[in-house]
Amino acid sequence: MDHESPVYLHQLPVPGEERYVSLALVNSRFTLSHGRVDLLDDAEAAHLWLVRHELLPDRAALNGRQFGRLLGLRQALRALFTAYGTQAVPPADSLAVLNSALAAAPPIPRLDWTADGPRRAHTPDADNPVGTALSLLAEDAADLLTGAEAGQLAECAAQGCARWFLRSHAARRWCTTKCGNRVRAARAYAAKQGRAALGRTRP
Ligand SMILES: [Zn+2]
Repeated sequence: MDHESPVYLHQLPVPGEERYVSLALVNSRFTLSHGRVDLLDDAEAAHLWLVRHELLPDRAALNGRQFGRLLGLRQALRALFTAYGTQAVPPADSLAVLNSALAAAPPIPRLDWTADGPRRAHTPDADNPVGTALSLLAEDAADLLTGAEAGQLAECAAQGCARWFLRSHAARRWCTTKCGNRVRAARAYAAKQGRAALGRTRP
């Protein structure tokens, strides 16, 4: 493990992110015990995030306007996930942002065939690689929301965490065991304080 890298890189993986990159996008802003972390802090960080998630070729640039669109999509996805989680109709503008990203520059589908066998792949729009990245993220979210796993979509119940995950079983409430432990420790502390306060008020 690289001890020089920032603390958030050592976070436990959130279930579902490995299969749905749209979930990883929503979770790119979260809270740790020492404060908020935003993996899309500026355009450079956002470029790195897109390249790391294999959505953008390294040489493709990300300008300020495109960076703004990515942040807008992240916000819209959070609103759509929240609407799904609360069985509400999402705000019309969030749906419009997703639909506009879907249509930004859909990649051209293709079939690759190597020694390992056939594999679906895509060719990004050479004139608009960032548009393709937005389209892929929006399509991933649309697949998640309409697919068989949508019912497992849940927001972490730890206060302030704000990450979304796919529940492995119905009773699971925390995105990671770290969040579960944090909440249990806070509860134990509150209970102890409560007992102490009760002790003080007794005659
Ligand atoms: Zn959490």
